[in-house]
Amino acid sequence: MALSGIEIFKLLPKTNCKKCGFPTCLAFAMALAQGKTEIGKCPDISEEAKSKLSEASAPPIRTFSLGKGEKAVKVGGETVMFRHDKKFFNPTVLGVNIKDDLNDEELVKRAKEVVDSEIERVGQKLRVEAISIEYASNNPERFESAVKAVAESAPDAILILNCGDPSVLERAVKLVADRRPLLYSATDANAEALANIAKANNVPLAVSAEGPEALSALTEKIKALGVEDLVLDPRPKNAGEMIQHNTIIRRAALKKGFKPLGYPIINLVTREDSLLEANIAAISIAKYASIVVLSSIEKWKNLALFTLRQNIYTDPQVPMQVEQKIYKIGEPTPESPLLITTNFSLTYFIVAGEVENSKVPSWLAVMDCEGLSVLTAWAAGKFVASKIANFIKESGVENQIKHRELIIPGQVAILSGALEDKLEGWKVIVGPREANGIPTFLRNRAA
Ligand code: SF4
Repeated sequence: MALSGIEIFKLLPKTNCKKCGFPTCLAFAMALAQGKTEIGKCPDISEEAKSKLSEASAPPIRTFSLGKGEKAVKVGGETVMFRHDKKFFNPTVLGVNIKDDLNDEELVKRAKEVVDSEIERVGQKLRVEAISIEYASNNPERFESAVKAVAESAPDAILILNCGDPSVLERAVKLVADRRPLLYSATDANAEALANIAKANNVPLAVSAEGPEALSALTEKIKALGVEDLVLDPRPKNAGEMIQHNTIIRRAALKKGFKPLGYPIINLVTREDSLLEANIAAISIAKYASIVVLSSIEKWKNLALFTLRQNIYTDPQVPMQVEQKIYKIGEPTPESPLLITTNFSLTYFIVAGEVENSKVPSWLAVMDCEGLSVLTAWAAGKFVASKIANFIKESGVENQIKHRELIIPGQVAILSGALEDKLEGWKVIVGPREANGIPTFLRNRAA
C-alpha cells in the first residue's frame, strides 16, 4: 500500500538539512508521497527506511521484460482498471502454442508463421510476438530439439517453455537462456524446483493455480525463494471465470495494493474452434491479460486481435495523428489530382490506402486538425473553408501542381461554395463520402 506523507516523514532523519533540495523533511515527505521526488534524493536516510519506502513506492503491478534485444517487450506496469481513467501502458503479448511432437518441417513452418505475422496498421508494426513450445512428446530429447528448431526459425520471437517437468525444463532452458524465455509453469507440485531453475537462469516464471486465492499463496512461496519476475495463470475453466479471475487479480493489486497478486497475467485460451478461440482471446485482451496464448494464428484472427489490442492500448487522451504536409501517393506529376483530408491517423491511412488502390498517382494534402476525423474536425470548426484555404496557400502546393482543382471529402460537401470564395482561382470538387469510393472516383476522372 502507498504510504501517506506523514508515514514517510516518520521514516526520515528529521534533521531538516535541506540536502534533498526541500526546506524540511516534512516537505520532502509530502513531495515523495505525491510521486514528485525520489527516495534517493535524501542522502542520510537509513537502509532500513529506504527498503521500506522502496517497497511501498513500487508499482502495484510489477513490470519486467520478456525476451531480449530489439523485440523484447515489457509486461505489467498497469495503473488503472479502465483505459479512460488514464491509459494502459504495455500491450498484451500475443503468442501461439506449438507442440513439440510435430515433425521438424511442421515445427519450422509454424515458427515462421510467427515471423511472417507482422503487418503495418495506422503507421504501427504489429505482430504475434511469442511462441510457446509445449512438452507434449514426453521425450526430453524431442523437447530440446523442438526448442532449438523454433528458436532458430524465429530468432526474435519471445519464447515460452511450456513444460512442468523440472529435469526436462532445466536442460531446455540452458539452450535459450540468453533469450530470457518465460518458464511455464510453477504449480504446487513443482514450485520449488522451477523457482530454482528460474533463479539460476535469471528468467521469468509463470505461476499456475486455480483461482486468485491459491495463486497468491503460491506467489508468496516463490518470491520467498528469490524469484521476482512472475506471471499469473489463474487457470480459468471458461471465459466467464477468466473475466472474474483476471478482474479480481487486477483489482486486488491496484485497489488494495495486494502484492502477492501484483503481477502480469497470462491466459492460455487454446480452443479447437478457431472463431471461439479468437473471441475468448479478445475478452482476455480487453480484461487485463498481459500474455495471451492461442493454438493457431490465421491472418483474419491476427488482424482482429491486433486491431483490438491497438485500440485498447492507445492513449485515449492523445489522438493518433500524422504530420501536416502534402503527401505524394505514387509518383504524382504537376497534372495529378490533389485531395485533402485531416491528420487523424486512421483517416490518413485509410484515404492514402484507397488512393494507392486507385493506381492514380495523386497529391494528398493532410491538414492538422489536432488528430480529429473529417466530420468531427468540421463540427469543431477546425476543418472549415477559411482554415483550409490558408493551409492550401501556405503549403506551397501551388508550386508543385499546374491545375487549381481541390478534391474535398464528400462528407463536407457543404464547404465547397465557401471554399471557392476563399481560394481564389480554384475549383473545388466534391469527392466520395466514403474512402472506399475513392478508387472508382479517381479512375473515372483519369479516364
Ligand atoms: S535530505 Fe533528508 S534529512 Fe535532509 S531535509 Fe531532506 S529529507 Fe530531511
